[in-house]
Amino acid sequence: MNERAAAAPRRVVSLPLIEAASAHSGTRRRTTGRSDAIGAPAHEPPTHSPGHRHRDDRRLIDSHGRIITDLRLSITDRCNFRCVYCMEPEVRFAPATALLTPDELVLAATACVALGIDRIRLTGGEPTLHPDLPRLIESIAALGIRDLSITTNGSLASRNSMRRWMDAGLRRITFSLDAVHADAFTRMTRSPTPVEAVIDAIEAAIELGLAPVKVNAVILRGRNEDQVAPLASLARRLGFEMRYIEYMPLDSGRHWTPEHLVPAEEILALAAQAGELVPLGRDARSSTSESFRFAGAAAPGARIGVIAPVTRPFCGACSRLRITADGKVRPCLFSLREFDLRDALRDPSLRAAGASTHRRMIEDLILDAVWTKQAGHGITAEGFRQPARPMSSIGG
Ligand code: SAM
Ligand code: SF4
Repeated sequence: MNERAAAAPRRVVSLPLIEAASAHSGTRRRTTGRSDAIGAPAHEPPTHSPGHRHRDDRRLIDSHGRIITDLRLSITDRCNFRCVYCMEPEVRFAPATALLTPDELVLAATACVALGIDRIRLTGGEPTLHPDLPRLIESIAALGIRDLSITTNGSLASRNSMRRWMDAGLRRITFSLDAVHADAFTRMTRSPTPVEAVIDAIEAAIELGLAPVKVNAVILRGRNEDQVAPLASLARRLGFEMRYIEYMPLDSGRHWTPEHLVPAEEILALAAQAGELVPLGRDARSSTSESFRFAGAAAPGARIGVIAPVTRPFCGACSRLRITADGKVRPCLFSLREFDLRDALRDPSLRAAGASTHRRMIEDLILDAVWTKQAGHGITAEGFRQPARPMSSIGG
């Protein structure tokens, strides 16, 4: 294709303000020189100090100096479960044409990797529903990143499909499992999938070496606190990392209230019923999870983790960026604004500018989006507003 980088049309990449700016947003500086959506002065003096992005530093850094290295790439908003903390039974999905195609997903991932992303997690919705999953894994693994993982409810993670994903380049898998007991599992997921199917998938993943296998559970007051200790015992017996997540206001039904929250401290006390826990801290400064090992005998790999965004927020060290299945860049789970990558990917005049110019414009859009990443989620702050998008359409 004809490359015209030097003479590229000074196109304005569309960065529509999807929702009003957040009360919790951090400083917004723009260095693009473009006159698009976010209203801060253009042409700011370049500087290397944290809080100022040099236009030639083509790596993902936000206006608070945080370097972004982790991408959560949602490949579908569809799901076959209706977890009570996530999706209402009558949730409405985006039309198929609104979702990024596999080629567009790979292009988005490629641009992110060029900007310094070295860990990608495929998520959703339920990513295993994607008909092109093996091809997607293969194309993204070929970008040569440090870590490629997937988060799944496990209902479609048969041993054969997991082997195929591994052959394609998948390195790690994280399951969701909110209960061990059959009735509790059905109440949490509102799915006919038997809990044994997910536990079998977890065991198969451990045997296949998709290590470390992690298992997430969202704990809700009055729903599944009684499952915390049985889940910890299962982790201890099988050898995986059981990670309990505090319930966040990201459910499509908007049922979240502080009363539904089971705080990390209480969760850990319940988990300790399965065996004394020894703190290990965070694997990395930007890790979401604080980890523990069992003081007594346990299967190799058995660990407990707690992800406490509400009572122990970790925004200060956040390294994450999200792209939704319909191609919106979200600098934070709780962003009230999004950046339209899909428009930029599909825009005929941007495409006509040549592949490398087009990609550079896509990269510019992502750089600009990341720059606006808010300092923190502000869940407990007065005036907090839940984003319109639920977790399932953001990509957890
Ligand atoms: N369907 C896959 C699954 O459930 O693992 C991947 C997508 S799901 C949205 C990703 C993660 O988000 C899951 O671990 C789920 O438990 C978590 N999640 C969903 N809604 C949540 C909420 N309101 N608060 C905290 N975590 C939530
Ligand atoms: Fe589906 Fe995952 Fe949401 Fe449950 S948490 S409804 S499995 S997207």
